[in-house]
Formats: sequence, structure tokens, C-alpha cells
Amino acid sequence: MHTSTFDILRCPYCGGRLDLVTSSFNETSGDDIHTGILGCQCCVFPVIDGIPVMHLQPNATVARELVEQRKPVEARRAMFGLDEVPAIAERVDGLIASPDATYRHIVEAFGEHLEGGYFLYRFADPTFIVGHALVRAVAGTVLRDGGRAVDICGGSGHLTRSLMDLSPQPPVLADLYFAKVWLARRFTSPGCEPVCCDGNSPMPFARGAFRYAMCSDAFMYIWTKRQFVLDMLRLIDDRSKNARPGAAMISHTHNQCTWTPSHGQPLTPDGYRNLFENEQPHVFGESGLFADVVRGGPLDLSRVDSEKTLEAEQALAIVASRHPGVFAPHPLDQPPTRPVGEFVVNPLYVAEPPHDADVARYRLRFPSEDYEQEYGACREYLPPEVAIARADLQALAAGRVPPGAADMVRRRVVVDIPLRYGV
Ligand SMILES: [Zn+2]
Repeated sequence: MHTSTFDILRCPYCGGRLDLVTSSFNETSGDDIHTGILGCQCCVFPVIDGIPVMHLQPNATVARELVEQRKPVEARRAMFGLDEVPAIAERVDGLIASPDATYRHIVEAFGEHLEGGYFLYRFADPTFIVGHALVRAVAGTVLRDGGRAVDICGGSGHLTRSLMDLSPQPPVLADLYFAKVWLARRFTSPGCEPVCCDGNSPMPFARGAFRYAMCSDAFMYIWTKRQFVLDMLRLIDDRSKNARPGAAMISHTHNQCTWTPSHGQPLTPDGYRNLFENEQPHVFGESGLFADVVRGGPLDLSRVDSEKTLEAEQALAIVASRHPGVFAPHPLDQPPTRPVGEFVVNPLYVAEPPHDADVARYRLRFPSEDYEQEYGACREYLPPEVAIARADLQALAAGRVPPGAADMVRRRVVVDIPLRYGV
């Protein structure tokens, strides 16, 4: 962690500032703390592999003791949840040390010890494309004049990646699962500032530390929803003299009025509104936003969905902001002309046996029935069959979008994924 993070980091329990306990074991280089112990008035927290661990769950306590005993590798294993499975721990450590290891290699080495899900397909799934469009619209508006973003319960940082060029200071990625934020910093969103913390506890950040706070695809699993939302509003409550309005956004949260796979404990649209007390959040049905994105924009945040519409929705997005530019139609970003990572053919496509030397043909195939049930709406932008000139594939692999492939990028038949992701 960079020492400037001390300016925004606070103890979740006493709210006090933290400092490196220099009498305990630590490894630092310049302004970066790699390993160490942070102390406030009530607690001590470890920094492991540059990631502050701001909770007191059993693995964090074990890891903190291991840091104090000068055992940083063993501390990381404890935070990975691999301290009882030495064979897996050694394999993961070996991959970490290898410059050729990919996100996929490491997730697969963790096996059942890390919930990997459908990560290979994440950057083109319907939930992601709506989340991405919302981030670009809302964060893009409130961060235009500066400020910082935080992605809370952001997992392995897929949407944090959408924030990287919007947040003038590195976006903070917060999640309870150490392995996920670790993977995010190395692969998915390099340059983000990861913090390991518990979404069911007060957030370990100062009031007004951010101008944009979000939680996507996770809020229905939070038990302390009221505390969480009021804390999100605290994080964007800048009381300085020239403060500019920020935004808090909860996207892809399930709806108590309908059933969904991996349902969690969702509230009704009105139940979500209640959490924001005297802020007046706008609640959107995800399907309307999805239709906007598939149509090519604009993403219309000036819409007012009726209660009847909202009750029928499987997933909702909730945005609270006093910025006048947020609740308006937002043009979508142009499809990328250069990749942030690399261009690959969407892994939902399987190559057909080659018939033609000049053209590669692919067919859309879902990895499972469960995937199809949850994400089948991607058929609205992914054609069942595609043909791509091999010369165009070569240009894409070299990081260029030839005219013949521009539509493939726009439709997400070709996706821009992180380097060494493993697709
Ligand atoms: Zn404290």
C-alpha cells in the first residue's frame, strides 16, 4: 500500500487514523508498505503483500500473528485460506512467482478454495455491460473535475477496471476476500489500491474520502444494509469549502418482488429507497438500461420507471447524487480502437473446423445450462454464428481494429480483456 492511503484509511471500529507500527516486523520500499502492522487506538491490522487487512475475522488474526513472527509468505497463505492445504498453497505460491502465470491458472489452482464462477465470460455478460455503462455514465460525470472512486465488495475488480481512467487518483477496491483483491491488483485492474475489509462492518475510510462510491452485484448479500448505505453516503460526503457533489451507486442488486438465481436477501424497490433516508435515490430496472446499451445508447438516466415496472424487474440499479449531470441521457463510450489489455474473440464462441483459409468461423456456445439461464440475454448482442477474416484476427491480436472488425468489437464478439487473463 502507498503511504498516501493513510490519508483516507480509518479504523472501522474506533474511526482513528492508522500508522505503521515501526517496532513490529515490516518490509517497505520508498512510499510503499509491503508487509507490516498498522495500529490505531483500539486495534492492530496487518498489511500483507501490500494490502491492508482491515477486519478481525479469524484468518486476519492468524495472518497478523504470522506477520509479527516475520512470516509474510505464511501470512499470505492464511489470508488466501490455504494454510490448511499445503499442496495447493505451494502450487499457488509457485504460480505467483512465475511471470507467465495467468489469472486463470491461479484461479484454477485455488480450486474450491476460491469462488471463480464464470470469470472467463465476465467482460461480455449482460450484467457486466450494464454495470460498465452505468460506471462510465455516473462516475464519468461526478469525477470529471477530480476526486476518487471506491468499488466496495468489488471482488476481483472487473468493474474497478472500468473506473481506472475515470478516477484521477487510483480507485480503491474493497472486498472481504483477500485472494480476489490480490488477483485484481495483479491482473484485472493493475494500479488500483486494494483494501481487504468486511462489508458488514463500518467501512475503513474517512468521511468524504471519495467522490464516487459503488457496489455492484453484491449488495443483496450484505446483511447490514442500512449501515452500508449510510456509510457509502458518508464516504462521498465532502464538507470542504469547494466540495463538488458526488454519487453513490448500487447496481445489479436483486429484487424481493421476483425470484432470481443466487437470490441473496434482497429488498423491494421501496425498501432500497428507505435505506437512503433523506437522500432521494433514483431506482432503475436493469432491463431498461440493458435495452439502452444493446441499442447503442444513450443510457437514459433521466427515465422514471413506474413502481409496476420496478416490481417486475429481476435486478435494480440505485443511484443517489446531487450532481445535476447524473440524471440525464448519457451517450455510450465509443468501442475501443486500442485495447487496454488485449483483444480476443469472446470465449463464448467456439471455433468451427477450418473450411476456408482466409476466414475463421465461430459458433456461440454456452458453458452450461445454468449460464444460459442467467446470462442468455447476451443473445441480443452476440450473433449465433460469426465469420472473421483471418487478416482481421491478426490485426486485432496486434492491438488494431481494422474497419471490417469494428462491428465485432462493438457487439462484443471481440472483447478487450486484461493481459495474462488466460482466455
Ligand atoms: Zn481502532
